[in-house]
Amino acid sequence: MWTNERQAIGLAWSATLGFPRIGARRELKRAVEAYWNHSISREQLLEEAAKLRLERWTIQRDSGIDLIPSNDFSLYDHVLDTAVLVGAIPEQFGWDGGDIDLDLYFAMARGGAVPALEMTKWFDTNYHYIVPEFTAHMNFRLASSPKPIDEFREALGHGIETVPVVLGPITFLLLGKAKGTKFDPLSLLPQLLPMYEDLLTKLAEAGARWVQLDEPCLALDRTEEELELYRNAYTRLTAAAPISIFLTTYFAGLRDNLATALSLPVAALHLDLVRAPEQLDELLANHAHPGDKRLSLGVVDGRNVWKNDLEQTLQLLERVELWSGGNENLIVAPSCSLLHVPWDLDAETDLDADVKDTLAFAKQKLSEIRTLQTALNEGTDQVAQAIADNRRALARRRSSPRIHNPEVTARLARVGEGDYHRRSPFPVRKRAQQARLKLPKFPTTTIGSFPQTEDIRKARAAFRRGDLSEAAYTQMLKDKTAACVRLQEQLGIDVLVHGEFERTDMVEYFGEQLDGFAHTRNGWVQSYGSRCVKPPIIYGDVARKRPMTVEWSRFAQSLTERPMKGMLTGPVTILQWSFVRDDQPRETTCRQIALAIRDEVVDLEEAGLPIIQIDEPALREGLPLHREAWTDYLAWAVDCFRLAASGVRDETQIHTHMCYAQFNDIMSAIAAMDADVISIETSRSDMELLEAFQASAYPNDIGPGVYDIHSPRVPTVAEMVNLLKRACERLAPEQLWVNPDCGLKTRGEKETVEALTAMVEAARQMRKVSSYRT
Ligand code: GLN
Ligand code: ZN
Repeated sequence: MWTNERQAIGLAWSATLGFPRIGARRELKRAVEAYWNHSISREQLLEEAAKLRLERWTIQRDSGIDLIPSNDFSLYDHVLDTAVLVGAIPEQFGWDGGDIDLDLYFAMARGGAVPALEMTKWFDTNYHYIVPEFTAHMNFRLASSPKPIDEFREALGHGIETVPVVLGPITFLLLGKAKGTKFDPLSLLPQLLPMYEDLLTKLAEAGARWVQLDEPCLALDRTEEELELYRNAYTRLTAAAPISIFLTTYFAGLRDNLATALSLPVAALHLDLVRAPEQLDELLANHAHPGDKRLSLGVVDGRNVWKNDLEQTLQLLERVELWSGGNENLIVAPSCSLLHVPWDLDAETDLDADVKDTLAFAKQKLSEIRTLQTALNEGTDQVAQAIADNRRALARRRSSPRIHNPEVTARLARVGEGDYHRRSPFPVRKRAQQARLKLPKFPTTTIGSFPQTEDIRKARAAFRRGDLSEAAYTQMLKDKTAACVRLQEQLGIDVLVHGEFERTDMVEYFGEQLDGFAHTRNGWVQSYGSRCVKPPIIYGDVARKRPMTVEWSRFAQSLTERPMKGMLTGPVTILQWSFVRDDQPRETTCRQIALAIRDEVVDLEEAGLPIIQIDEPALREGLPLHREAWTDYLAWAVDCFRLAASGVRDETQIHTHMCYAQFNDIMSAIAAMDADVISIETSRSDMELLEAFQASAYPNDIGPGVYDIHSPRVPTVAEMVNLLKRACERLAPEQLWVNPDCGLKTRGEKETVEALTAMVEAARQMRKVSSYRT
């Protein structure tokens, strides 16, 4: 229960919007995977989940948070939970309309008798949700035992009053996709709303006083008709039941939708003031405090790991307090759910003390929220110590020589226009490269990694434990690399790779060797389902201490007469898959990484590697949520790639790789990267994707993936020939390379050999055909 004190008039509340689900030690991952492997029972899984929920509630209660969320927990994904809640179960799962049990739930997420539902990124985070599928004549049905009510009751049973969190109806529909006949999922709103009305009524009956409805889509570009839907829906929902609605928006500013959001008859409205601080100025300058609702101020970064600048935040809060004429209409909150940050910094016992002193994970963010709330309600004197400590930590961060490297800054300042350009235009380079490489038409290659088999993973684990000597481990990697090179020669592949056996993760591998990066032991964040990632933390200026990949690449090249590709991860991808410092623009950090990669590229060239691939699979996902910010992002992202790639001579061939199939809207940026060869994922789109490359008359060379590496299925020669012929309808045969969709790391050895054998044969057949145009 909220204490009387905090319910009292005149005081600001605190909220968290959501807490990490996975557990301090990834307990949820272990439990769910054990259930999938049949090594624990359903009861054991549910018991473990209940334990975790209690732990999360207790942590928040003990921190003194007022609005403690429930139903923010999920065994897989909260969007899938919402689909289950309202009975949006696609037909192919053969649902009989009864209770949806765990196995049906997991089948939708992971596939079984029928393929899993699609998964896609949750806005611009690295969390992935299950995409709901809607048909035009959907019969929604509220679950007989709705999860938000169960979890609310469960918490109440532990004496903790919570605020159930439910994905709002409009965002839920906008995140789904229409199946069958084309129609707008939003047209289902009239059928869906009664489910929500029913749910709110039942929540109120169960004793809930508040419900948090998440509508992040309200902060994106919306049409006037859509805003009208918001007004109607929330008017209805407010009238449906005696429960207060806490409407949240996050990941972007409300901009043109601010007035609409303020006018909704909800009891509280959350704004993300970290991602979009400018919306506060707009709010204070042009709007009066909506007397009918509390404003929740997202001031603690829910997407990043840095300590809050408490004094600066307090100044902001005081401005709002002045404007609203008191605190009784305010809530202090993180910018979004804390789902996207790791659990607890205290678990990081090996982190450098200076770096650790700049960080705050989910648990630490709870104290920050409470400190800010206390300062607001009781005056800064009450938290003088916390504020003084914070001021000291921030001052150290600003001046720490571990963070600021004057050489890096000076070098970046010296970068000139010329550093962004290869010496000659593509046609000149292509001739120089061909003279050197003498590749056949339809040259074959792979994307880099070869199967990371059980024995490699075991040896790595043993090496890390100290059970295998470094010499023995390195020898094993050398043997693997040599075998991989031999295999590619036997298969008749034209451009070889070393196999990437020494790398676990394509970003971590570089982060571990660069200055300015820190690595945690338990800094896991959920990526999808039970899958977690542990992003490196870029805390300081990035610099390369010494060559990172040259030794492995040189070794691999020494084993063969054929051209070997040096393999690197690009600056945008390294940035995108890390926690990035917030004390300078992302762009600046990215340019620093680009310079480090540039040095590596030049060293690889020096070491005799004729081809260097700079992977940028995350380029597209860095696109800002608001369209108008795209141009700016793409300009610096492309710049960073070019800065990394342009240090080499004409005859050195630069490749890049991207593993997705959506290029239409960023085609000019892709062309501007000016890679000599780009490999992309295309097999599943049946080469349709090449339309974009055709339409824009893409000038350089392309390797459209000819088979899907996500499946163990071995493609036939005929299928791949067919795809290549399709590609020839859209592009000049002289532009085309032959390669799989992506790296082969997760595939088995046998299927890899079979698939690559067929791929090489497909290329040979293409070379024999005299006319490719049909
Ligand atoms: N070179 C990497 C590999 O082959 C590329 C991986 C990726 O694009 N995600 O594994
Ligand atoms: Zn890929």
